[in-house]
Amino acid sequence: MAMQKPLPIATDISRPFWDGLKQGKIQLPRCDDCQTWVFYPRRHCTHCFSHQLSWQEVSGQGTLYSYTLARIPTMPEFADEAPQAMAVVELDEGVRLNTTLVGLAEDEIEVGMTLAPVFAKVNAKGDTLLRFTAPNRETTRDETPSLEAGVDGKKQVPFDDGPALASLVTGKFGDWSNELTIDQELVNRFAELSGDDYWLHTDPERAKRESPYGTTIAHGALVQILQSRLKIPLDFELTGFSTMVNYGSDRLRFPAPVPVGSKVHARARVKDAEPTRKGTQVTLEVHTHVVGQERPSVINDLVILYR
Ligand SMILES: [Zn+2]
Repeated sequence: MAMQKPLPIATDISRPFWDGLKQGKIQLPRCDDCQTWVFYPRRHCTHCFSHQLSWQEVSGQGTLYSYTLARIPTMPEFADEAPQAMAVVELDEGVRLNTTLVGLAEDEIEVGMTLAPVFAKVNAKGDTLLRFTAPNRETTRDETPSLEAGVDGKKQVPFDDGPALASLVTGKFGDWSNELTIDQELVNRFAELSGDDYWLHTDPERAKRESPYGTTIAHGALVQILQSRLKIPLDFELTGFSTMVNYGSDRLRFPAPVPVGSKVHARARVKDAEPTRKGTQVTLEVHTHVVGQERPSVINDLVILYR
């Protein structure tokens, strides 16, 4: 699966560095008082503690100080880059930065080798990361996930692209998720946890005699939260956001019971997707059904906020 890679978050102190990269420039803070180059960006000079620093552009030429080839992804998001050549590069100005080497065969990499910067654009917004390679090779590269299809064939949609978001809204539900069996033990555990131990959920003997369903039924709330265990296929993936939060539900209904012993599955459609002042709000209409039943057991208009 193509996953959203985490990106550095610019702070007030570091922002000029990241903004410079977007324009194809490497800028470092330098002390006005003693001329020491400072990196990472800080409020003060690391040599004389002066607070008089100014940003100056540098060439980005340097040498390889140290590196490692990470053959096991450092995070699942980086699986597509393995083996990842993680490096510390010493710039001609003397500062060292953590980076990734690109465009080099494993046996070309050698501590002390001369390196040149590569500006790697990583998303449609133009966010750029600094990589390094041997001199006289590519100086820019585009690592933006394709808008048409990601690695796994999903449509990639920038989370703040209004028209692209609008195109996701559909009346048609997607494919079914995996199936999950709701057994009495699960229902009992939920009864204990929630305190709702009404006999209709927990007493199979009495339910056999008195329940209109001839058996116990699952709590609606249980079936609702089991959504997390159903992998609902969606044919798109939002990109470029830094946080994703469950913002609640616009509508929650339990139109049909789930008799204990049934299997459930779910499917979804995008009901609404638009940028708002709070962030991009996507409403997924999720229907959970007993397998084979026309009528949904849970209708949940799930609201997710991307920022
Ligand atoms: Zn200084």
